Amino acid sequence: MQAEIRSENKKPEAKKKFDVIIIGAGPAGYTASIYTSRAKRETLIISGILPGGQLMLTTEVENFPGFANGIMGPELMTTMRQQAERMGTTIIDDEVVNVDFKHRPFKILTYSEEYEADAVIIATGATPRKIGAKGEQEFSARGVSYCATCDGPFFKNQEIVVAGGGDSAMEEAIFLTKFANKVHVIHRKDTLRASKVMQDRAFENKKIQFHWNTVIEEIKGSQKVSQITVKDVTTNKVDTLEVGGLFVAIGHEPNTKLFQGQIEFDAQGYIALKNHTQTNVDGVFAAGDVHDHRYRQAITAAAFGCMAAIDVDKYLSERK
Ligand SMILES: Cc1cc2nc3c(=O)[nH]c(=O)nc-3n(C[C@H](O)[C@H](O)[C@H](O)COP(=O)(O)OP(=O)(O)OC[C@H]3O[C@@H](n4cnc5c(N)ncnc54)[C@H](O)[C@@H]3O)c2cc1C
Repeated sequence: MQAEIRSENKKPEAKKKFDVIIIGAGPAGYTASIYTSRAKRETLIISGILPGGQLMLTTEVENFPGFANGIMGPELMTTMRQQAERMGTTIIDDEVVNVDFKHRPFKILTYSEEYEADAVIIATGATPRKIGAKGEQEFSARGVSYCATCDGPFFKNQEIVVAGGGDSAMEEAIFLTKFANKVHVIHRKDTLRASKVMQDRAFENKKIQFHWNTVIEEIKGSQKVSQITVKDVTTNKVDTLEVGGLFVAIGHEPNTKLFQGQIEFDAQGYIALKNHTQTNVDGVFAAGDVHDHRYRQAITAAAFGCMAAIDVDKYLSERK
């Protein structure tokens, strides 16, 4: 699917200056471009290494409104891209390697070109942290998930594993007990990092079983996950859990490195917003998971994209 999307690659030829450049081609970036292009702002999307964003890495999406029977993630993103292109957005599949937000127009450097823009929307998303176990990559979207809200309902009446010991791991484990028969929490230490209130809630839940001082060694299965091998790090004893899935809940890494020294981040390294979608630099906006560590959904990312585009249009009008 990614190869297919790349083959539609449209080079901007001689044009190097745009009204707005959107960095990132997930739900936030594509939605922003649909709005800016329809508002007659010349728009360039630079898609990075994952055109279509995180949903290219999943199978069925059941919670994006408008699709009564669900839709495959890559299909949804291919359609969004086609919609953006139909509105007149130029899309290039290149990666941004440097930016200059200190001078006007803003400069965006990719591996192959330098572009200029009067306004920029950052929509580079956040990457879920991996546990690094054998089979994790192979079974991604085939039983290994990084989002309980997204995938929990696919695990009705199954036994599953949650990896992690922080607040979000406890939140996910508790949420998943709505669907699963049993949730095994695998934690490498003998105490949780989660807040006392979250710990108490998890301990009270009869469907959750804790495995302390334990790490995941290997994820196994055929079509989907069917077994997870875990090791007690104090005794080296290896155990096999017969489970249908693994939820990795050890946090996300915002894709913000590129903007260090150019704009302000919050305490967790996500882009800090000052006024709606505006960053601390006038003319630079952010949308989606790159600033939102609370909701992290395709629909919320798309909504932030719409908001950023409306803010950009207003900014450009007032600037004139
Ligand atoms: C496996 C999985 C399944 C999911 N399932 C669901 C679901 O069922 N429903 C749901 O609502 N949500 C789901 N989510 C969450 C959803 O995918 C995200 O919330 C959403 O994609 C965030 O959109 P975004 O546009 O902010 O960022 P992303 O989708 O992460 O897109 C980021 C974009 O930025 C680009 N980028 C990054 N760095 C650079 C750079 N240097 N230069 C240029 N471009 C760059 C990337 O290439 C990518 O195109 C799932 C997430 C995962 C990981």
